[in-house]
Amino acid sequence: MKLQVMKFGGTSVGDAECIARAAKIIASAARARSVVAVVSAMSGVTNRLIAAAHQAATGDKAATNELAAALSTQHAGAIDALIKDESRHAKLSAEVQQIIREVAALCRGTALLRELTPRTLAAISSAGERLSARLLAAALCELGLHGVAVEASELIITEDDSAQAEPLMKETRERAPARLLPLVKDGVLPVVTGFIGATAEGILTTLGRGGSDYSATILGAVLDADEIIIWTDVDGVLTADPRLVMDARLLREISYNEAAELAHFGAKVLHPKTLRPVADAGIPVWIRNSFAPEEPGTKITRTGHPTESGVKAITAISNVSLITVGGRGIVGVIGVAAKTFTAAASVRANVLLISQSSSENDICFIVDSGDAERTLKALKKAFASDLVHHNVEHIRVNPGICIIAAVGEKMRGTPGIAGRLFSALGKRGVNIIAIAQGSSEYNVSFVVEASVMQSAVAAIHEEFDLGRRSIK
Ligand code: ADP
Ligand code: ASP
Ligand code: MG
Repeated sequence: MKLQVMKFGGTSVGDAECIARAAKIIASAARARSVVAVVSAMSGVTNRLIAAAHQAATGDKAATNELAAALSTQHAGAIDALIKDESRHAKLSAEVQQIIREVAALCRGTALLRELTPRTLAAISSAGERLSARLLAAALCELGLHGVAVEASELIITEDDSAQAEPLMKETRERAPARLLPLVKDGVLPVVTGFIGATAEGILTTLGRGGSDYSATILGAVLDADEIIIWTDVDGVLTADPRLVMDARLLREISYNEAAELAHFGAKVLHPKTLRPVADAGIPVWIRNSFAPEEPGTKITRTGHPTESGVKAITAISNVSLITVGGRGIVGVIGVAAKTFTAAASVRANVLLISQSSSENDICFIVDSGDAERTLKALKKAFASDLVHHNVEHIRVNPGICIIAAVGEKMRGTPGIAGRLFSALGKRGVNIIAIAQGSSEYNVSFVVEASVMQSAVAAIHEEFDLGRRSIK
């Protein structure tokens, strides 16, 4: 029997009505194939958990009570609306209250110690998925199906990193199918907590914000699923973020490479690592709208569907900082780049873009703003003696910028695209701070002031006619 892994994002399980809709989608798919569901926390819950954890670290005890009350109201309200069977209602309510008590205890401990360790933060922030998985499983039972919540900490084995854990695929391949496939064979519908993993020793880890997409493809890969469907709140992958460009259009089919570039450069619709586990096996990934399940969505495949213009989509990423290491003294000095990126790697900074001018007067690169301060510190340490001797004259951080990327596999070898891009921006008076093109040529990316992000995206979207016709 064919197997589908389906992931439901936060808005797709945002309230009782959404959870009921998700349960119906699963029920309808399960008539023709086996289904493993993966679920995010109800929308807003992870943010709330993380904020309360940080608040607790300041010694604030009241924040814990507010958190427990808000979680209780949100989940108990959904349970009342969803679950009619009395004993199921009582059992689920007790489980939910137990998880909320556990989170509250962790927050209280944090407030007492005034210290939030990465492990504690992971345990607190993962509670949303542990709650929502139980609600969705119970909603399936209400439909007469056998839904069972399964903790991903029993399935996805990761490295020991509480916040951005990398899966260990070999170990996960040993663990997850052995736990899930017997359930599936028995007609059970497992509902797995997204976002969560555990070390081989059983310490809970998380896969990074938005990581439930990644959970779905990790599981899809190790279960040899026939396809993966990521249910979200838009019709699929669009030519641009619909919050930035009103006439963004649906892309019916794109390649793994294109989707990965879009995700890397900030298209929130997919976690940046989502395609990694499935690209080699060629498992198709669909992005579909849980609020409009009749829409076909976007299919992500090996080849995608090339378009004439070459540019398929535009994406933008803010909350990033430009770091420049420069000075005339670095010209021709061997090892400056190595030293720069070794320093960035030593603090696990996520480097998104690198650009160096041929005159070599400076090297600039972009990191998530959250990584900027510690990267700066590491660079100042690494270049301490070069700064004294003026080989390196400055190390600067500019937080007021954004990266814009134009993505499309057909851009490879198509001349003139960069020219069109930059003249479109020039016409609108947009100043370009740095430019980079990967050797894959799937994207051209450039750095502009954050204040012109929207107009720059709109200018390129218009130049390549992305909004005016539907791209098949
Ligand atoms: P979920 O909670 O289902 O994981 P997310 O909020 O993480 O959903 O991702 C979906 C959102 O991604 C959409 O609502 C949309 O605003 C945003 N988005 C950004 N870029 C794109 C794009 N190119 N195509 C579609 N959606 C995009
Ligand atoms: N709930 C987690 C988050 O908000 C994971 C996810 O939604 O994918 O980051
Ligand atoms: Mg998401």
